[in-house]
Amino acid sequence: VLEHGRSILDRGASAVEAVEQCASLLEDDPLFNAGCGSVLNENGKVEMDAGIMDGRDLAAGAVAAISNVANPVQLARLVMDGSEHVLLIGDGALHFAEHCGVKLTPDHYFFTPDRIKQLEQARLHHRIMLDHDDEGEEQKYGTIGAVARDRAGNLAAATSTGGIVNKRMGRVGDSPIIGAGVYADNASCAVSATGYGEDFMRTVFAKTLADIIDFRGGDARSAVDEGLAYLTRKVQGRGGAICIDGAGRCASGMTTKKMIHGWIEHGGEAICRF
Ligand code: ASP
Repeated sequence: VLEHGRSILDRGASAVEAVEQCASLLEDDPLFNAGCGSVLNENGKVEMDAGIMDGRDLAAGAVAAISNVANPVQLARLVMDGSEHVLLIGDGALHFAEHCGVKLTPDHYFFTPDRIKQLEQARLHHRIMLDHDDEGEEQKYGTIGAVARDRAGNLAAATSTGGIVNKRMGRVGDSPIIGAGVYADNASCAVSATGYGEDFMRTVFAKTLADIIDFRGGDARSAVDEGLAYLTRKVQGRGGAICIDGAGRCASGMTTKKMIHGWIEHGGEAICRF
């Protein structure tokens, strides 16, 4: 995915195009909690959220509590580019998808045996849980996100998720909430976050990282460190973030045990952390 991002950015793609394409590849991978392979809610259904933002002009698009759309991030992009709104939910979002010619995908595409087992476990223990905050090796593939800076220096961010395991029907997390789970502003940075969405919404997490740079100065590293410290101090929030700043410096951090992620900084080597 990193190399795909590199190759399209090298050929002149915009940061928005890069985050949309990279997020789509991750949505298509059944290992991750987004698109195919999303976690299941209390009714055993997939309900997905996604958001995308363009740091050039703060244009943003998002969808929430949607089913049967293989690539929610692409629908979020259509909301950004093709509607006068920022966030569409549920049936309204699906109606808009059909209006845009997005083909709906049958339920079975989204389900994986691991997610069915995971819901059974969550129900057994009466738990609503993050899918990647567990000791088990098999549990480490979470929500997906991408941030990018293009050759013109523009920033963009995208986040997509099935949410948290055994969540209530209709529950929306931070991922499609601009400023909570996703944010991009050329003046500061692009951020994609993962973790217990309620904590990220209450602390307006992604925008807080941008504000740290915008109002106080600093870089992606200091924004992630200070932002995660704030999340812990205020709400004992659990999760992590990836961030790229206007100078192309990359940073990541987490308060959970794991967050698979990787980066390419200033055209260098692709680095992955498992
Ligand atoms: N932030 C997502 C949510 O609360 C879950 C996650 O990141 O794994 O919906």
